[in-house]
This record gives sequence, C-alpha cells and structure tokens, in this order.
Amino acid sequence: MAQGTLFTISAPSGAGKTSLVNALLADNDPRTCVSVSHTTRTMRPGEQDGVNYHFVDRDTFVDMRDKGVFLESAEVFGNLYGTSGDWVKQQLDAGKDVILEIDWQGAAQVRQKLSPVKSIFILPPSLDTLQQRLTGRGQDDAEVIARRMQQARDEISHYHEADYLIINDEFDRALDDLRAIFRSVRLLQAQQQQNNSDLLGSLLQDNQAPL
Ligand code: 5GP
Repeated sequence: MAQGTLFTISAPSGAGKTSLVNALLADNDPRTCVSVSHTTRTMRPGEQDGVNYHFVDRDTFVDMRDKGVFLESAEVFGNLYGTSGDWVKQQLDAGKDVILEIDWQGAAQVRQKLSPVKSIFILPPSLDTLQQRLTGRGQDDAEVIARRMQQARDEISHYHEADYLIINDEFDRALDDLRAIFRSVRLLQAQQQQNNSDLLGSLLQDNQAPL
C-alpha cells in the first residue's frame, strides 16, 4: 500500500476551514483522517477535549515540545499549538491521507520536514464577509474579533506559499474544490502505481495469451 499524503489546510480565522474539513470527513472515506492538535488555548463553548483539541497547560506543552513530541508547533494569538509527530507518521504509514488544520507557520515547518506535503489555503470572498462570519460565530468578544481581523490579514499574506487555493464563497462549491484536490492527488501516477502494483504487473506481463 502507498504511503498516505499529508495535507495542510490553512486559512484566516473565520474563512470556514473547520466547517469544510468536517464536511469532507462526513463523506466517511476511511482513507482520510484529521489530526487533533494540542493547544494551550482555553476551551470554547461546545468544544470537547480530545475531539477539537487536546487541551493542555503551558508547562505540559513546553515539556512535550522539548521532548520532540511535535512535528510542528507555533504560537498563534498568544496560544501554543502543536501536531503530534508519531500519530501523523502512523496514519501515513497505514496509507491514510492526513489533514493538519494549522496556521502558515506550522505549514512551512511541515513542508521543510516531510515530503510530499500538499498545502491548501482557504480564503474568504472578502474582508467584509470574513468580519461578518467572525461576528456571527458569537464565541469571541469585539476586542478578540478586531484582533483576529488584523491577524487574518497576516495569515492571508501567506497564501502564495500554498499549492492550492480555495475561495470559500459558496460553501458547496468550496467543498467540491476540496474533494477535487484529494481526488487528484490520489490519481497521481506515483500513488496509483503503488496502489495498483498487481494490475500494472499483469498488464505488462511478457507472455500473456493473445486477446
Ligand atoms: P483556533 O484557536 O481558532 O481553533 O485556531 C487558531 C489558529 O491556530 C488557526 O489558524 C488554526 O489553524 C491554528 N492551529 C490549530 N492547530 C494548530 C497546530 O497544531 N499547529 C499550528 N501551527 N497551528 C494550529
């Protein structure tokens, strides 16, 4: 079986990244999984430990980082976030495609450490829409939203580092685009060769009976 592919998905806060990833996972493709990051951020209403994130305190996070637990880690909005390296490796070795929902700093670290990595960037159709989405979520106060709008511009300025760009204007269209990326990567010749080695061997056998 071929190694799975590692996908990073980055976006400014409010661009719809998590909703798109959840909709992709709802397709229930057993070859696709998403990594649950560790973070020092406090839990938001509705979030669950071990589902949305592994919520840990700063000392625990720093200790884990020092021990080399993380494939990548970064500070975002004053909180620390990191991806467990062992878990990702196990999934890739089992032939699964792994999604990392991480910021541009983490995506850059992963691209340096592993290959191949396919990086995807999700953009909102406008800054107005982004602001509406951040306000509509109702989870953060005005000050946090203003800070996140500023951070959004920073995140957006890194769009050109990604392999793929998705504009999340219409949700269904953006989801189709995301599905298309996963599908096209699985159709790459190198992937197909490893997943269909028996077929390819038989198609190229010398002494096949004439048709
Ligand atoms: P939030 O706290 O709103 O869930 O996420 C804030 C930002 O942290 C988002 O841009 C998200 O993609 C990023 N993030 C979440 N997990 C990780 C991670 O494990 N590593 C990195 N580098 N960024 C992460």
